[in-house]
Amino acid sequence: MIRKKIALFKHFILKSIGLKKLSQINEMNNKNVLEGKIYRNGCSLFEGTLIINSKRVQLCCQPLTDNKDFFFYYYDNKSDESFYSAIQQYKKNRDKLYEMWVKMEKNPCSNCSYMIEDSLPTNLNIRTIHFPTGFDDSSCNFRCIYCNAIPVLDKKIKTVGNLFETIVKLSKDFDFKGMIFSFSTGEFVARNDANKILDYLYEKGALISLTSNSSIYKKRLMDFIKENRVTGINTSLDAGTRETFAKVKGVDCFNKVVENILKYSNEGCLYDLKYIILEGINDNIEDINGFVEIVKKANTRNATISANQQVKNKRLSENTINMTTLLYKKLKETNANLLFSSNDFNREDMKEIREKININ
Ligand code: SF4
Ligand code: SF4
Repeated sequence: MIRKKIALFKHFILKSIGLKKLSQINEMNNKNVLEGKIYRNGCSLFEGTLIINSKRVQLCCQPLTDNKDFFFYYYDNKSDESFYSAIQQYKKNRDKLYEMWVKMEKNPCSNCSYMIEDSLPTNLNIRTIHFPTGFDDSSCNFRCIYCNAIPVLDKKIKTVGNLFETIVKLSKDFDFKGMIFSFSTGEFVARNDANKILDYLYEKGALISLTSNSSIYKKRLMDFIKENRVTGINTSLDAGTRETFAKVKGVDCFNKVVENILKYSNEGCLYDLKYIILEGINDNIEDINGFVEIVKKANTRNATISANQQVKNKRLSENTINMTTLLYKKLKETNANLLFSSNDFNREDMKEIREKININ
């Protein structure tokens, strides 16, 4: 009787939290564990990435839960001790989170839309350390018309931290061999200390992932590429002609950028190219054709269509919507994996675009 009650209770608990029966999970795990995976809760996007901001260490870049204290660990960047303590707190909560995920318990991610239940790696393998815009003295040689980091780049917002020193500090806690360092700190390659950082990471056996405008050729970066140590470069090109490029970026160097993209991609670097559709600027056939040609020549991995978030409240014109669908159709014929940044579009515009190109 007592056993029956316990079984009923277990059944009720599993049902009420919407989980699979433990026996089902175990069965799946027996199958998967050989491939280094188990069936568990996990985060589809940020698992495996540590984010270092100038004032805080983050377990996740956008915790869509109320429990931000669990994900953000603030530090005083003048104190090494404070930084190491934030890293320790991060590690503690990362392990705690993983345990809750594995046990399929309710956890601080439970209400987040990125949470999934699937066959996932058997451990939380932190493979990427990401530095976002705003870390340290982010700088950039461009002034894109849609850039939301301009106040930081123009030094109107004072940033703190020191990228190189922070990387050195991290080497005490992490083995850099095979670890990916991802930089979205303005134009990383334009930094005065870019070579110093690249040399250091090269010696340590690290890998690189960049968000870059591709305007500056770096020999050291090419060394990483030749050794297959660049996991990808993400460049928002937004144009297919020299004139439009200059209008969007504030710098007339379209040919140089295309030349660099081709130089790097010819050596095997995987490129992700983006086109932010801008009304009255790049919503025309010449730019679209030019961009599609570059996507083909660079053997682009991902081609992303996006919109200007800063004017998301305003609907796009009929012509811009038609040009977005034309861009979609033309990119579809290339070998690139085609992505849509739907969240950057006005919801009504996205609905109309979806209907026109027949995607859900
Ligand atoms: S599930 Fe959501 S809150 Fe949890 S780590 Fe992923 S993105 Fe962050
Ligand atoms: S290249 Fe990037 S960081 Fe530089 S201005 Fe353009 S959007 Fe901003």
